[in-house]
Amino acid sequence: MQRIKEEIVRYFRRLYEQGTINLFEGNISARVGDVVLMTPSQQNKETLLPEMIVEMDMEGNVKGNVLRPSSEYRMHLALYRLRPDLGAVVHTHSAFASAFALAGKPIQNDMAEMWMFYGGEIPCCAYGEPGTDAVFADFERYFVKEDKDAVLLANHGLVTAGRDVEQAFSKAEAVEKLAKITVLAQLLGGEQPLPPGGADVLLARCAEVRQKNREVRK
Ligand SMILES: [Zn+2]
Repeated sequence: MQRIKEEIVRYFRRLYEQGTINLFEGNISARVGDVVLMTPSQQNKETLLPEMIVEMDMEGNVKGNVLRPSSEYRMHLALYRLRPDLGAVVHTHSAFASAFALAGKPIQNDMAEMWMFYGGEIPCCAYGEPGTDAVFADFERYFVKEDKDAVLLANHGLVTAGRDVEQAFSKAEAVEKLAKITVLAQLLGGEQPLPPGGADVLLARCAEVRQKNREVRK
């Protein structure tokens, strides 16, 4: 438990240092059995300590901690309920991904290697007021039916998930990079799609990678 709390603090600070989130923004959680560990609400990332990470059950009841979890804790719990294979969730407001979220547009992914790990598109959920259940109204559609591990939240930001904090963090990093590359490609005249059949091959490899990830989690 202590190791995971330290990991959350380390990656949370890294998101801040990358400029992905401001001093009091964003959140990370990790699930360990029926316990969810989460970054606290309104705490400065530079002075955040592992013992300040909030522990709660799957219903959001906080255990022995005076700090409140981030206001988006219901979004994280909803995702763990929908996808028992997930061990961590990261939420950021990174600039390029958020630009797509603000435009209400999915990020079309035609970058070959990213395709294998993240699938063909990062969809954009309908707008929901931050901190309310409306934020995650589209999660079942995208995270379960379409089996995505990353979505944009309209007019808000990005959510990524993985088997552990490292993986969820790396997806947030990758989606931000993809969003940046896509914007730059658009300035150069637009993205070129993968060649015919290219996406199908990658889709099969993507399914293989995801299956392996799930087996590691079990
Ligand atoms: Zn947010």
